[in-house]
Amino acid sequence: MKAFAYERARTPAEAAAAVARQPGAKFIAGGTNLLDLMKLDIETPTHLVDVNGVGLDEITRADGGGLRIGALVRNTDLAADRTVRRDYPVLSRALLSGASGQLRNRATTAGNLLQRTRCPYFYDTDQACNKRLPGSGCSALGGFSRHNAIVGVSDACIATHPSDMAVAMRVLDAVVETVDPQGQTRAIPIAELHRLPGDTPHIEHTLKPGEMITAVTLPKPAGGTQIYRKVRDRASYAFALVSVAAIIQRDGTGRVAMGGVAHKPWRVEAADAAMPQGARAVASALLEGARTTHDNAFKKPLAERAIAAVLVEAGRTA
Ligand SMILES: Cc1cc2nc3c(=O)[nH]c(=O)nc-3n(C[C@H](O)[C@H](O)[C@H](O)COP(=O)(O)OP(=O)(O)OC[C@H]3O[C@@H](n4cnc5c(N)ncnc54)[C@H](O)[C@@H]3O)c2cc1C
Ligand code: SF4
Repeated sequence: MKAFAYERARTPAEAAAAVARQPGAKFIAGGTNLLDLMKLDIETPTHLVDVNGVGLDEITRADGGGLRIGALVRNTDLAADRTVRRDYPVLSRALLSGASGQLRNRATTAGNLLQRTRCPYFYDTDQACNKRLPGSGCSALGGFSRHNAIVGVSDACIATHPSDMAVAMRVLDAVVETVDPQGQTRAIPIAELHRLPGDTPHIEHTLKPGEMITAVTLPKPAGGTQIYRKVRDRASYAFALVSVAAIIQRDGTGRVAMGGVAHKPWRVEAADAAMPQGARAVASALLEGARTTHDNAFKKPLAERAIAAVLVEAGRTA
């Protein structure tokens, strides 16, 4: 691990200004992703700004009947929150399907959204990886790509975004709140937070340098039956091969987002509109234009079956 300076911020604005002031500085929250990457010299920040002391660890009512989740709320606390369990159960279920109890105790809302891919070549510094080293190539194309993306991919990168929580937040139409180094705040719809890889897969989100996530706001509850189904190689402690977050109303209408298939939580309007027509129509809208490898072509039929299982669980026909 490379040497780095460390400071604790007392307010979000102070944290944002500190990161902007030091070239190569990063925020650290739970540290469960960043520290692993630092130990492997994949992330080499010169300066860490610890945001654990800035507050932002509460879940409160938001204007219009929604919920405001502080950026430092731990994944365990968010999953267990009574209002989340009652009004946004898809979020609670998604969180509980991720990582382990110990990791969830430490992991934060903001850190979870900004965690980095689990593509094995991103972690192997002997291998070419455009995300880790721009211009070096993509070892997953033509290599081991069982876990990699099938939609929104590019010739430069086929990595997935690994978060379960983010998929539920996408189906819930969450909005991410930030503060920048000048103290300006803004609200970013979660659909616009994560980027597709294009030819710059190392740029993963739309935050500006030093811009800090302060909260995530959920709109008023959508009702319906809310389900998160994660399909993975092991029953626990594994990242999704595919996952489905869905909200299904009594009349069969609803919304659906997928994890494990793209560089960002994946949602397509036409798939929402196809919900009453069943799993095949939804999967075909979600995965239109899919580009698979010989290793991950199985994700297309798996996605359709996972959507079918969700519809059956909600009492609909698949
Ligand atoms: C063994 C293992 C298994 C796992 N399994 C799963 C799984 O199945 N599903 C899943 O979803 N996740 C899984 N995870 C990932 C885990 O959920 C993330 O590591 C965790 O959510 C990251 O949160 P953190 O607070 O620790 O982030 P950190 O590691 O502190 O930070 C992550 C990134 O976010 C940035 N950041 C942090 N806070 C802010 C902020 N407020 N504003 C702007 N930037 C910020 C940091 O600079 C860093 O770039 C697993 C992790 C491990 C180690
Ligand atoms: S898929 Fe992306 S993260 Fe994986 S090796 Fe290729 S460039 Fe790197």
